[in-house]
Amino acid sequence: MDENNVIDDVEIMPTDIVFDCPNCNHNLVVDYRAAGLQVPCSQCGTIIQVPIPDGMLLDDLDCDPGEILQQLLQTRRMLVKAENAAQKMGDKVIEMTEQVSEYRKALQAIKVRMETLQNALDEANAAQAEIDSVIARVIAELGNSNPSPYKNSVFSPSVDSTWS
Ligand SMILES: [Zn+2]
Repeated sequence: MDENNVIDDVEIMPTDIVFDCPNCNHNLVVDYRAAGLQVPCSQCGTIIQVPIPDGMLLDDLDCDPGEILQQLLQTRRMLVKAENAAQKMGDKVIEMTEQVSEYRKALQAIKVRMETLQNALDEANAAQAEIDSVIARVIAELGNSNPSPYKNSVFSPSVDSTWS
């Protein structure tokens, strides 16, 4: 800021603060007395804070009571906005907590259902094993009492119709 510059036909004084809007990147020029204040961007209207140049003491600023009041009102508006946002977020947290609680209940119900199914499956497996052992025993008994000549043969005895 040693030499004068012209941006958007605005003559920049060596005491001016030149910075870019963090929202729209529009190049802004403000009086040094606005350092640290919150002002609306002339391009996008977003409330932005004017940077305080290195080495500048805020005590040097000759803010008149009107400016201070304006800044106070602006800060209060920002505070109300922030409070509303915080309230909304709080509501959202409550809503999400309720949802999590619902999911937990559903999960618990699924767990109980899975246990029931697992028990039924275990019972079915036990019954199947019992049936298998009974079948094996019956086959063994049948094999002993009535030995078949075709045992272990892949061919079954059949009558060829052309021979009858
Ligand atoms: Zn902007």
